[in-house]
Amino acid sequence: MNNKLLTRDVGQLPAIKRSPMSFYSLVTIYIMLILAPWALSYIEGLQIRGWYEELVTLLSISGMAMMLCQFTLLNGRVDAINSRIGVDNSMRVHNKAGEYLAILFFLHPFLIGLPRFIVAPSFALDNLWIMFTSAESATGVYAWSLLIVLVLMAIKKNKIGLSYEAWRYTHSVGFVAVIILATHHAVTVGRHGRYNLWFDVLWIALCAVAVSVVAYVYFIRPRSVSKRPFTVVDCHKGSADDWYLTIKKDADFQFEFDAGQFVWINTSGSAFKRNEHPFSIASSPRSLPELSFVIRNLGDYTKQLGKLQTGQRVWVDGPHGVFTLNARNAQGIVLLAGGAGIGPIIGILRDLKNRADTRPIRLIYGNRNMAQMMFLDELIDMAKNMNLVTTLVLNDTPDDFPPIGFQGHKGFINQSVIEASGEGYNTQNWDYYICGPQPMVKAVETTLQQLDIPQSRILYEQLGF
Ligand SMILES: Cc1cc2nc3c(=O)[nH]c(=O)nc-3n(C[C@H](O)[C@H](O)[C@H](O)COP(=O)(O)OP(=O)(O)OC[C@H]3O[C@@H](n4cnc5c(N)ncnc54)[C@H](O)[C@@H]3O)c2cc1C
Repeated sequence: MNNKLLTRDVGQLPAIKRSPMSFYSLVTIYIMLILAPWALSYIEGLQIRGWYEELVTLLSISGMAMMLCQFTLLNGRVDAINSRIGVDNSMRVHNKAGEYLAILFFLHPFLIGLPRFIVAPSFALDNLWIMFTSAESATGVYAWSLLIVLVLMAIKKNKIGLSYEAWRYTHSVGFVAVIILATHHAVTVGRHGRYNLWFDVLWIALCAVAVSVVAYVYFIRPRSVSKRPFTVVDCHKGSADDWYLTIKKDADFQFEFDAGQFVWINTSGSAFKRNEHPFSIASSPRSLPELSFVIRNLGDYTKQLGKLQTGQRVWVDGPHGVFTLNARNAQGIVLLAGGAGIGPIIGILRDLKNRADTRPIRLIYGNRNMAQMMFLDELIDMAKNMNLVTTLVLNDTPDDFPPIGFQGHKGFINQSVIEASGEGYNTQNWDYYICGPQPMVKAVETTLQQLDIPQSRILYEQLGF
């Protein structure tokens, strides 16, 4: 990275608001939370004799705690939590934890049966069969089987042909069933539960909290969303593959957001239908009461957005997310957008323009071809009043690439493009905002890490959970 002395004026920094928790702090808190019930049982002197039994107990109790965290800490829909940890961080840990949870639950009966297998291998299968078919284990076996099916569905969700909405519904309802069955198993068969009332009470209370969170998302939240109607102002093609949707507040209610945040939009005709999709706001807060969005034509829902009628009622749940300029002290900003990722990025740029921000801002904007590029005239216009340089990155480059007013690069966003963006500046205290499809965000984040950009300087929003 070029770390020459800062050579140009740095404008006023945006107001400091709330600072989101870092990914590593989240992981630390998460690990402490999932170990807490076992630690509590240990401190209370409920430990079981023998290291192997203790290990199995630790894994079982931590597995239960992990599942409860999936509903609460890592739910992605609880504002009070997400505004502190960021929905992207939360979903990243949720997805990874889900995989470990599946392994842990899958191994659970086998780990319990292992000592008997070692002592009397010839009876091992019989023992396992008795364990699986005993009436006492029934709820545990149901929870075990259902969890494995649900986790496999989550991992393969893009390949099994189920619509995203159907998958999400199955995921929520299915896991409510799993947590209730698993809690019953823990308090009836689980060693601590069987002998200690307070452990039963703990699991039942935590299970109730988990189920309440789902009930809140499905039944209570839509009620407040229904009181915040918007109407469609316009929906037109913004590029060969993207819609540009504008909606407007249609009642007198408070709605504020920070540039870069996203909302869940429901165009189904009822605020109570769970047919909602997350989209990032592409307009700046100054455009309120209107909100605009860049929406890529991707699947069954986004392909039919052109059917939206002017004046049609829609509902907005939000704003959410911490992909904003808040609580940052950057002296320069690199914005890295892939495809529809330009949505929140143009929102941030518009906000910076409205604030007359004079810091160096570098936009690196990737697409497959020129027909997918949006806002080119606006970007040229912005560069007249802002310290903004835009580099277009394309896989298929036409002969006249890059267009006048832009820098250009053929291929993908790579180290050299990012390094070139900071030329002439000390980029040590710059922030890097990445937004685009998941593989693009991951690849660019890795490139930034290879360039020794501290994780605390990287903010990202993935267009998918
Ligand atoms: C925080 C966030 C912000 C986003 N911002 C934008 C944006 O500004 N512009 C944009 O074009 N796209 C954005 N997306 C992605 C957008 O939500 C999906 O592309 C869209 O919902 C696809 O719906 P579909 O039915 O047309 O496509 P499908 O082919 O059904 O889905 C494609 C993929 O989109 C995701 N997806 C689909 N439906 C939903 C849903 N209801 N909820 C969550 N994810 C879903 C899934 O990962 C799915 O695999 C964002 C996603 C997230 C998580």
